[in-house]
Amino acid sequence: MEKKQFQAESKRLLEMMINSIYTQKEIFLRELISNASDAIDKIYYKALTDDKLVFDKDSYYIKVIPDKDSRTLTILDTGIGMTKEELETNLGIIAKSGSLAFKKENELKDGHDIIGQFGVGFYSAFMVADVVTVISKALGSDSAYKWESAGADGYTIEPCDKETVGTEIVLKIKANTEDESYDEFLDVYRLKGIIKKYSDFIRYPIKMDVTSKRLKEGSDNEFEDYTEEQRINSMVPIWRKNKSELTDEDYEKFYAEKHYGFDKPLKHIHISADGAVVYQAILFIPENIPFDYYTKEYEKGLELYSNGVLIMNKCSDLLPDYFSFVKGMVDSESLSLNISREMLQHDRQLKLIAKNIESKIKSQLLSLLKDEREKYEQFYKSFGRQLKFGVYSDYGSHKEVLQDLILFYSSKEKKLVTLEEYVSRMPEDQKYIYYASGPSNERIEKLPQTELVADKGYEILYFTDDIDEFAVKMLMKYKDKEFKSVSSGDLGIEAEDNKDNDDADKNDHKELFDYMKGQLEGKVASVKASKRLKSHPVCLSTEGDVTIEMEKILNAMPNNPNVKAEKVLEININHEVFQSLKTAYEQDKEKLNLYTALLYNQALLIEGLPIQDPVEFTNDICKIMV
Ligand code: ADP
Repeated sequence: MEKKQFQAESKRLLEMMINSIYTQKEIFLRELISNASDAIDKIYYKALTDDKLVFDKDSYYIKVIPDKDSRTLTILDTGIGMTKEELETNLGIIAKSGSLAFKKENELKDGHDIIGQFGVGFYSAFMVADVVTVISKALGSDSAYKWESAGADGYTIEPCDKETVGTEIVLKIKANTEDESYDEFLDVYRLKGIIKKYSDFIRYPIKMDVTSKRLKEGSDNEFEDYTEEQRINSMVPIWRKNKSELTDEDYEKFYAEKHYGFDKPLKHIHISADGAVVYQAILFIPENIPFDYYTKEYEKGLELYSNGVLIMNKCSDLLPDYFSFVKGMVDSESLSLNISREMLQHDRQLKLIAKNIESKIKSQLLSLLKDEREKYEQFYKSFGRQLKFGVYSDYGSHKEVLQDLILFYSSKEKKLVTLEEYVSRMPEDQKYIYYASGPSNERIEKLPQTELVADKGYEILYFTDDIDEFAVKMLMKYKDKEFKSVSSGDLGIEAEDNKDNDDADKNDHKELFDYMKGQLEGKVASVKASKRLKSHPVCLSTEGDVTIEMEKILNAMPNNPNVKAEKVLEININHEVFQSLKTAYEQDKEKLNLYTALLYNQALLIEGLPIQDPVEFTNDICKIMV
């Protein structure tokens, strides 16, 4: 029989498939099943417009038949079939003509690229088969044809017998090699798994004969094999169903089946969009934080389906980093089955979907915050840090999206509050949004620096996460109100009682403070009378952009940038200790040096900063005891 040649490009593609070292060979089944499903679609649409054709649901299906004895795997469908000419053109000339031209020769070594780049459809069969036979009878045709190829050197076409309309693809499965086993593609359970994984939501039944054991009738210990035809796929995907038909349990079941997490989802979002872009999506906000969430190992992304067929497990382009905790899937008819990761990134449809999804997630989180505060706080405990990272990252370009989703613990409310809530109850004379940083709410509560602000009756937000100060630095303002650390130099609060003698005070004690500063050379930028302290004798404040908390965090980083906060030692001149300082300054400089060192070290301790020489510090305390 005459052997026909493949078109040049097809031949190259085929050679790549045959020699492919691509690890995910199982996708050939997805490709063939999806072709079969397309073929049934075609006959279905014909039936819609042709009265003579009745689309009887039961007679349209796909069947997968492994046969270990003959080492063949058959995929048959009752779709529209192919004529002789169609077999020639569809299988002899690849549709993706020109696609290879994109890639330079040397980049196409093993077919890995080409699969990733363009998908391969029918030819992927050659990854697992030595010989591929296609027997097809087209709708409206009397005769059937057999197309056969054993690889790149060509194919044959001849008439054959086939009763019913449709296509049968018979793969002669490759023999096992040293490195690779192909037997798995003849194993019913393995095949079932592949079908479930990629083709679960194909609209038509995918059938297989499954043999199991059962007790022989009338016996209680003798078994017999019996074979029954089973439908493998679940067909109607939950995301195509009407929301009103579904219960919370349905979504939870789906979440578990899909292995999105071991927890129960905190909230589900079911989207059925048919505006500028048509897609369905089911998204979940998990209840618990995945164990690897805040590590590099964690991979964000949503499952991506093209018209019911899984094309990607984790499409990261669908989720912004700050919503990386969201799990779920997206199905769109407007995406091609054979789209690659690289091409997806530039796909306009996908960008629209991602944009759309982002705003849906945001509005759902806002409504959770508004209507189910407890649940939101639970969510926030797990993923709040990620939202704050989002505010900080990309130079603050997402702050608009995120600023209303972040919460901080409030000194007044003793619970988490939003910035909106904080600002809405600010007294008129309050200029700033005040915050205090520390390792825990309890520690912050006791910080001397908070005294004046708290005394004024102003609310203070407690920052206990590393990222907090950095995030508000990016935010800069919320509703025109700037953020201010209670430790910053100028608090924007006039201490009423000593407003007038402010300058006098400064000059009064200038010599003393300068002397103390001299003693603390290199440790503090200045020593001054505090306006924020009420009952405590001493504290540190900072001038400039870097706060003490930021210094701690930056210096804990692996490539320690050695950033230092500009520290100011503040002394409460209304405290008794100050009298002792004054007396010592006049009478006993040695004593003043001791007091200065002690006060400085105390201020460090309050801040949770290490003191340089703890032994000297305890010796100093002993000195004043004896
Ligand atoms: P694609 O599916 O991306 O077009 P393929 O290489 O998978 O590319 O298939 C090429 C063409 O062969 C299909 O477009 C279709 O017209 C035809 N074809 C493949 N499988 C079948 C089938 N089972 N029944 C009918 N036609 C088919």
